[in-house]
Amino acid sequence: MEGQIIKALSGFYYCYHEGKVYQCRARGNFRKRKLTPLVGDDVIFQAENATDGYIMEILPRENALVRPPVANIDIAILVFSAVEPAFSTNLADRFLVAIEHEDIRPVICISKMDLADEAETENILQLVEVYRMIGYEVFLTSKEVDKESLIERIEGKTAVIAGQSGVGKSTLLNQLNPDLSLETGAISDALGRGRHTTRHVELLPIGGGFIADTPGFSSIEWTTIEASELQFSFPEIEDRRSGCKFRGCLHENEPSCAVKVAVSEGEIAPFRYEHYLQILTEIKNRKPRY
Ligand code: ZN
Repeated sequence: MEGQIIKALSGFYYCYHEGKVYQCRARGNFRKRKLTPLVGDDVIFQAENATDGYIMEILPRENALVRPPVANIDIAILVFSAVEPAFSTNLADRFLVAIEHEDIRPVICISKMDLADEAETENILQLVEVYRMIGYEVFLTSKEVDKESLIERIEGKTAVIAGQSGVGKSTLLNQLNPDLSLETGAISDALGRGRHTTRHVELLPIGGGFIADTPGFSSIEWTTIEASELQFSFPEIEDRRSGCKFRGCLHENEPSCAVKVAVSEGEIAPFRYEHYLQILTEIKNRKPRY
């Protein structure tokens, strides 16, 4: 049978197949290849009975995050709050770069919009416009969250949700699916366990999809991105790079740089370009790996 691993705990992998969860052990020859099943993996498993089975094969992964360890993520919902803490484009751009680099589609969600005053709201709406122009989807949420559109977005997908503490991630998850506790309860019953904790990764059902709550990308280190690759994590820079005179243009001080022209003409937001240069400098300055 084909299923998806929605939870890994103490050597067991919980495989979801047509509304049922099977507690499986790894048995396939993928272990000889030093491959460990990850939450999110699509697998071929053999059911021994109605509740237990063995994973025989891990199907090819689309992508995989290291922290949290989740595979085959379709979208990453990056949650930032409008206030407390205030929305920071610097932080947002760092999250976006990290996610873009993993070839995962980011969706921006700005929470607590109801707590922002008029000036804060106006400022955020202007920034939201910048991100939408780049092509990012942005959801604004508050106590009266627009649940339907976010739930529709997750339909049939595997998502991760990330954000700093205090941005209201858990509140959002609960708003997204009031049945969540009920549904996770049903699965938990099948697993003979209580509610999930943040100590392990688990895919929770929301709408017709799954979502993994993550402790967040607390520290983003640029250990896997090369300076020349960074531009591909900024869609609006990637779009214009073919217009640069030099092939290896990093859009810093090179002459005839189409990216710098776009910045001076207001087509690329100055703050986005600044963040690009900042991260580029950090990548160049990191200690070499041995
Ligand atoms: Zn350039």
